[in-house]
Amino acid sequence: MSIQSINPYTLEKLKSFNEMTETQIEEAITKAHKTYQTWKLTSFEDRAKLLNKVASIIKEKKPELSKLITAEMGKLIKQAEYEIDYVVSIFEYYAKNGESFLADETLKVETGEAFIRKSPVGVLLGVEPWNFPFYQVARFAAPNIMIGNTILLKHASNVPQCAKAIEDIFKEANAPEGLYTNLFMPGSKVSKLLDDKRIQGASLTGSEKAGASLAEAAGKNIKKSVLELGGSDPFIVLEDADIDRATTLAIYGRTVNNGQSCVASKRFIVVEEVADEFLSKFTTKMSALKLGDPMDVKTQLGPLSSEGALNTILKQVEKAVSQGAKIETGGKKADLIGNFMQPTIISNITPEMDLYKEELFGPVASFYRVKNEKEAIELANATDFGLGGSVFSKDLERAKNVANQIDSGMVFINQPTKSSTELPFGGTKRSGYGRELSALGIDEFVNKKLIRVISENDKM
Ligand code: NAP
Repeated sequence: MSIQSINPYTLEKLKSFNEMTETQIEEAITKAHKTYQTWKLTSFEDRAKLLNKVASIIKEKKPELSKLITAEMGKLIKQAEYEIDYVVSIFEYYAKNGESFLADETLKVETGEAFIRKSPVGVLLGVEPWNFPFYQVARFAAPNIMIGNTILLKHASNVPQCAKAIEDIFKEANAPEGLYTNLFMPGSKVSKLLDDKRIQGASLTGSEKAGASLAEAAGKNIKKSVLELGGSDPFIVLEDADIDRATTLAIYGRTVNNGQSCVASKRFIVVEEVADEFLSKFTTKMSALKLGDPMDVKTQLGPLSSEGALNTILKQVEKAVSQGAKIETGGKKADLIGNFMQPTIISNITPEMDLYKEELFGPVASFYRVKNEKEAIELANATDFGLGGSVFSKDLERAKNVANQIDSGMVFINQPTKSSTELPFGGTKRSGYGRELSALGIDEFVNKKLIRVISENDKM
């Protein structure tokens, strides 16, 4: 079987790649394991040098890499350029701070000394999605390479050119062979790799189904896993919020990355005093978005990443309508060649409807009207997901109190949820476990090894 790269705007087939054979995968694991034996002994200085080199190559190639992202998965070109800048900052951040994050921790003991040394664990498997094809890889690979682990990376099958470009960048940076290896293989086969004794852990960003499969294989083999899965983030608007500002940010929160972000704002929960004003302004702004070529800087909403993604969201909307939901705007495939969904707002959603529980991975917003703050919090928590969320209010203490009651991994006040290099990223409930980015992100795949020292004359 071959792996296809298809432009979601033109639907043109761009390139295809062969899946790796079992022998090639075995060779990749062997090399990653062999390289681990020497990479784990390198200095922080040498590892930082490599990360900085990778960062500088990415910086240099920014125009071509941004265009590749846009061509392969449809992200607006300005957002693709931003992704590349962000990726550079992630590699530089771990190069700069990795050594201090991984420094020995001294423990108080009565005799001799004791300390915790953060040691590498070995070969790691990363399984990543297409929605941020460089960023998702960077936030897993950069900290782990700094620790001294080596990486096997199974990228999403619809972004093979990005996958190959990342591997090529490591080669160009003179990374030792086997430090970072791209695996061209289908998602359905990747969890099985955890049966291999040489692979010590795995991290997956993607759907619940894929996450459960990987975690099951990791559990069976007594290996650690980190999962960053889906979300259905609440966007709570209280009565004292600035509605013009909140609706502008609602558009950004719902349509960034053409609506395909795990931490996109998905459920707009507005207290009744301001619900009509919010809905009216939100609908006007949503329906005014300019759809078109994602390479054109004037375009505000591009295509979904694949035909499958478009069909999924269209079916979700159709079903919601058949169950009694109301379309405020949009609701259909847009009249363009690529995988375009009209920017959509749905209201009148009740707990009996499927949509109430589902994640919407595209430019479709669910709108809910609630009586008060208490009802807003209850509705925000009425989901199996727990990734991000936002609260809008002029009263920051009140907003913090609401944030405290939301069961999710991240809550942002007066802005949509967003990732930053220095802030931890991750969820709770069915959104997964573990954290990426910041100092916490470098702590997942380390052996916190105790070293206890006494001299021969000390009492034991
Ligand atoms: P997906 O199908 O789960 O794909 C993600 C990755 O998992 C791909 O590399 C895929 O490979 C692989 N995969 C597929 N089936 C698998 C299986 N049975 N076992 C192991 N790996 C498997 O995800 P998607 O639907 O394309 O991506 C969107 C989802 O990812 C959404 O739910 C979104 O919220 C979530 N997401 C979460 C975060 C976060 O940080 N929390 C960030 C971005 C996206 P193939 O492409 O070869 O199938």
